[in-house]
Amino acid sequence: MYVVVSRRMAARAVISAVALLAFLIGGCLLYARTAAANTKENGGESSGQKEYIKWVDFDIPYEVLEHALDLDVQSHDTDTPVNWVELLACAASKNGNNWKNYKTRKLDEMVQTLQEGTSMEELTKDLKYYAYYKEAYSAVLGGLVGEYEIEVPDETAPNGKRWEARYGLKGFSPIARNYPYNDFDDFGTSRDYGFKRKHLGHDLMGAVGTPIIAVEGGTVEALGWNQYGGWRIGIRSFDKKRYYYYAHLRKNFPYNKELKIGSIVQPGDVIGYLGRTGYSVAENVNNIQQPHLHFGLQLIFDESQKEGNNEIWVDVYPLVRLLYRNRSTVVKDEETKEYHRVYEIRDPAVPSTTAVSETFTTATASTGVTDPSG
Ligand SMILES: [Zn+2]
Repeated sequence: MYVVVSRRMAARAVISAVALLAFLIGGCLLYARTAAANTKENGGESSGQKEYIKWVDFDIPYEVLEHALDLDVQSHDTDTPVNWVELLACAASKNGNNWKNYKTRKLDEMVQTLQEGTSMEELTKDLKYYAYYKEAYSAVLGGLVGEYEIEVPDETAPNGKRWEARYGLKGFSPIARNYPYNDFDDFGTSRDYGFKRKHLGHDLMGAVGTPIIAVEGGTVEALGWNQYGGWRIGIRSFDKKRYYYYAHLRKNFPYNKELKIGSIVQPGDVIGYLGRTGYSVAENVNNIQQPHLHFGLQLIFDESQKEGNNEIWVDVYPLVRLLYRNRSTVVKDEETKEYHRVYEIRDPAVPSTTAVSETFTTATASTGVTDPSG
């Protein structure tokens, strides 16, 4: 009896073990497939830890960006406002981020569907990567559009200016108004100084001394010499997702002298001056042949992506074209030789006074050793 029971128990144990093994293998395969799909398709990764986006290709053409922005702004005061980031995320998840031959009228059709009563949630419920693109594009574009107040010229006002409340593009071109520059889409072209690498930013060729403007408000996180970028300044957005990098600034007088690590800047502020410093271990050396601003935008979904070999830099060429709409008017202070903006801005994204001091004390100096530039 004892033997029979034991055999039956043994048989049961074997069946249970096989079932468990099959379950585990199945689970592992499913996990591996999901992880592989995430890694391949959207740069995500399943780990036991916090999940965050690992890669973003920002390939939206200028015409598409511009049209989505206009649809957002035009619909803002209607009963059915549309969000340009959502429109773009929906478009990208439909076309698989392939924008070749993309027709902007597809955005108009999307807006029409939304205005006829379909919600964005319904419109995107079968789009597998909509959530990914929404998060990715929110990181790139999240600080550039919204409500703000700005001073505008007014001849009848005592100081020639008055405040105006607006909704729309609040980011600025990195080059001040009335200062010419030329550029082309140079993201990913090769660079040789130091080591063979890709150009992870955008060069704007202009005259030495051209005032450089903060595109978005934020906290100065890096300021000083970097062997690649020369005199450079790095500004982190208040939501921490974007790091704006402005490099090769002017020899001897690179920055607005009031700026230090931890300073708060507003969109449109003069932060420095175009130059040709960099490509030198020694400080304050002009080793760049053609004077230009190197402008870069890094996305940070997790602090581990700030410095190292997992940095995400995006192509800002189409963005810079869009930002040309907002150019900051500047005036020179003859005494200090410093330039200042003429029209002030009130951006709700800029923290209040208490929050400013908090940001100031928590900001840390970046070594910036790996800040790529060229
Ligand atoms: Zn460059």
